[in-house]
Amino acid sequence: MGISSQEFQLGEILDKAYREIPLNKAEIIFLLGLNQEEEISQVFQVARDLRQRYFGEKLFLYGFVYFSTFCQNNCTFCLYRKSNRSLKRYRKSEREILDTAYSLAESGVHLLDLCMGEDPEYLMDSPRSFGKLLKIVEDVKQNTGLPLMISPGLVPQVFLERFQEVGVNWYALYQETHNRSLYAKMRLDQDYDARWGAKRAAHHMGLLVEEGLLTGIGDTMEDVADSFQAMKELGAEQVRVMSFVPQEETPMEKWVSPPRMREILIIAVMRLLFPDRLIPASLDVDGIRGLKQRLNAGANVVTSIIPPKAGLAGVSNNSLDIDEGNRTVKRVAEVVEDLGLRPASLDQYIDWVEKKQKRIGRIPAKEATI
Ligand code: SF4
Repeated sequence: MGISSQEFQLGEILDKAYREIPLNKAEIIFLLGLNQEEEISQVFQVARDLRQRYFGEKLFLYGFVYFSTFCQNNCTFCLYRKSNRSLKRYRKSEREILDTAYSLAESGVHLLDLCMGEDPEYLMDSPRSFGKLLKIVEDVKQNTGLPLMISPGLVPQVFLERFQEVGVNWYALYQETHNRSLYAKMRLDQDYDARWGAKRAAHHMGLLVEEGLLTGIGDTMEDVADSFQAMKELGAEQVRVMSFVPQEETPMEKWVSPPRMREILIIAVMRLLFPDRLIPASLDVDGIRGLKQRLNAGANVVTSIIPPKAGLAGVSNNSLDIDEGNRTVKRVAEVVEDLGLRPASLDQYIDWVEKKQKRIGRIPAKEATI
């Protein structure tokens, strides 16, 4: 039996990817359109080989502290949009945030992601507002010593500088799509360029940046390929994809979540295009049962680890697996070991972060030390 042209093309593209020769847009779209199990598993294999080349068996684990679910925006896809009156919101006290941070640090996460909606309570330039937030972040840093990611939404550059001064290493801010007209339908009344510019500014000042896309919101394969290109131009150190999950009482509540293979294949193609970057497997979409397939596709970070019984939410599946204790380091480590992988040591993660910050930073190397 001869080799079909489809198989031939796949082999050639995967060979290029393995040799880290940049793929063109048509090749990326070809990969994203694969639907035969055998072909997809070849893509996963090369994705794992590339992960192995840069990271060996090591994975990084991120704790997630969603400390305020208030938000001034109205993103169409999001449960926490301002006009959604169906949910009970919370704003955790500094004590609660610190307790959660300690417990995550003790459990063995490598980084704490401090996340909030764009909560106006914390975003005014005054000691009682942003000053209070900054103090919380500084206390978390001093008390845990862990690398920190901050996900506060779009904030002025001066705030980013202050975050960096108190020891924040990462700024996470997701465009979700890089198709401007789709963006306008998702992030209502939020300027595309302002959001993009904040990430560039953060990067320029020496913060690492995470960029993300959401799939299943009407994005085409071409849009996804364009997102990869935008992520490359940004030089994001961490790139993530998540599947859209419909949320009650939102304009998209009747939409359906896309077939999960779409997200998983995007993870694998991301690994082919960004072999040395961090790519998360989020527990937020399918909980612990969705972890293996994301790791098998080449992800190397497990995100959204949340301690049980702390009254904290996730983002897209806001309570899935949390109080059952399935989003803990212990549970994650069991799954990871089954796949022949293992959590890195904290020193290994810190070393990775330091090297990247020194490489991008305007800041002198000694100040980039965490
Ligand atoms: S996605 Fe973020 S900015 Fe948009 S409504 Fe939700 S919490 Fe607010």
